[in-house]
Amino acid sequence: MKEIQELIPLLESNKSANIIITTHHKPDADALGSSLGLWKFLKNQGFENTRVLSPTDYGTFLKWMPGEAEVLNFEYAVHRGTDMVAKADYIFCLDFNALSRINELGDLVRASNAVKVMIDHHQEPEGFDDYRYWTTQTSSTCQLIEEFIVMWKGRDAIDKDIANCLYAGIMTDTGSFRFDSVTPHTHRTIADLIERGAENSRIHQLLHDNFTFDRMRFIGHCLANKLEVIPELKTAIMYVSREELVEYKIQTGDTEGLVNYGLGIEGVEFSVLFIDRTKLVKISFRGQGKFPCNTFAKEHFNGGGHFSAAGGASEESLEATVERFKRILPEYKNYLS
Ligand code: 5GP
Ligand code: MN
Repeated sequence: MKEIQELIPLLESNKSANIIITTHHKPDADALGSSLGLWKFLKNQGFENTRVLSPTDYGTFLKWMPGEAEVLNFEYAVHRGTDMVAKADYIFCLDFNALSRINELGDLVRASNAVKVMIDHHQEPEGFDDYRYWTTQTSSTCQLIEEFIVMWKGRDAIDKDIANCLYAGIMTDTGSFRFDSVTPHTHRTIADLIERGAENSRIHQLLHDNFTFDRMRFIGHCLANKLEVIPELKTAIMYVSREELVEYKIQTGDTEGLVNYGLGIEGVEFSVLFIDRTKLVKISFRGQGKFPCNTFAKEHFNGGGHFSAAGGASEESLEATVERFKRILPEYKNYLS
């Protein structure tokens, strides 16, 4: 495994290299923003054969991102995607560090002879990469892409499109600049991106004030009818059935942010959202305080993530999953008192 600085001369020596940029399934703004920011930078530098390959679709609220129309969705282009991976010289893996996070694409990437580059901020990298730029001590993958570009070509290489993409990822991964991960360095990067054309106010609007009426009603329904608080364990939970997802026409990305509402309740330090995704129950964990969300997700729900924001899944029914959760939770009372 080598550091990313060593990759730069290698890339410089072959501008016609076939480059794939991929990111985790159901990409969020940090995943797609970092991918498209890097894509535009590489294009600007003359790497013509560069493509963003997403393992799945993503929310429509991300479709304003510059370059988004050229992203290839592997779900709809399995043959083309497979062929691209087979021919790739470099595969950049952004905002994830375990190949299981890109579904079927993971096996293809693992088998590929391409040079694999991982740029990421999640804990416990699996180690499939040849080059890496990795730390958990950063706000986001977009921040790391900004640093990579500056390291390679200096700040002037960041154009308005890149600035918009990177701004979106830093903003969303920091909960609009409020999480612990935000430092003076984060704000300096943001200031610089705005100077280079990032439309800060417009991006907040595009990402936060752009819900469908159904999505807004769905949030209201969840808050009014689905939220439960377990006060003695400082925990809030919500669970959503398949029928409710259909009733409110919930699309990819529409449940993003829902888990955070629980943390808005006075005294709550751990919030959990269970969603019945047919084959699996997907679970989101969010903490504020000393609850180790990633350890909990890993030990009980086959997942992982960050200390205060993690996810997992269960193959049991929604009801059985919630019941199991409620049985386990008291064991963690020490973290929730
Ligand atoms: P979310 O709740 O938004 O789906 O995920 C929150 C965080 O947990 C993300 O940063 C993601 O990396 C991590 N995460 C979510 N689901 C999983 C999972 O199934 N396995 C692992 N290892 N991490 C996950
Ligand atoms: Mn991220």
